[in-house]
Amino acid sequence: MSTTFDLDGQPVPFQPGDTVIAAATRAGHTIPHLCWDPRLGPSGACRLCTVEVNGRPAAACTTRALAGLRVACQTEPLQQRRRQLLQMMFVEGNHFCPSCEKSGGCALQSAAYAAGMTGPQWEEFYPQRAVDASHPALWLDTNRCILCKLCVRASTELDGKGVFAIGGHGIHTHLIVHSPSGRLADSAIAATDEAAQICPVGAILPKRRGFAVPIGERPQDTP
Ligand code: SF4
Repeated sequence: MSTTFDLDGQPVPFQPGDTVIAAATRAGHTIPHLCWDPRLGPSGACRLCTVEVNGRPAAACTTRALAGLRVACQTEPLQQRRRQLLQMMFVEGNHFCPSCEKSGGCALQSAAYAAGMTGPQWEEFYPQRAVDASHPALWLDTNRCILCKLCVRASTELDGKGVFAIGGHGIHTHLIVHSPSGRLADSAIAATDEAAQICPVGAILPKRRGFAVPIGERPQDTP
């Protein structure tokens, strides 16, 4: 029996239990994503990894790899959908990249460049959420949070602390810090925790380390 599926015309081997994105990544392919991390259970939050599976849209991070699947990732309609998703994420938060410490190392910014996003086509929301700078080594700006839940899952599944959660509904959905005061300083988080380092954007950042890497040498700068 075949143990491969087809990704954009190329056979991709998989192991029992693999998702499409896990097998494709292991084989050296790139499926755009923001909320997937191979160390964590899938979330399906960002939808950026949406591909076409046998002609129908599906999230590659939650779709089980099966023999003979036909998966399309690099089509213009999918790229257009990714640009729209990214534009939604940009207008929902305050993503002022020119003044953000994560610029050049930000997965959201990098995905937008890769998808050819030139600018949001909708009105900005301009949220006014409080910045939490209470922790001695970390600070949290949820105006940049894309609700990927990576910190939530990392804190629970890797750190065993459960520092973060997602609360609220609809546009009021937001990140919660589990502590008596709701502030980072009163939580169990440490700067060495996976949850403190996994944020793909500039929402959870270490203090006193901003703008350390010269432009041109940042992780996602192109040569
Ligand atoms: S703070 Fe960062 S890691 Fe946590 S949900 Fe928001 S964007 Fe994701």
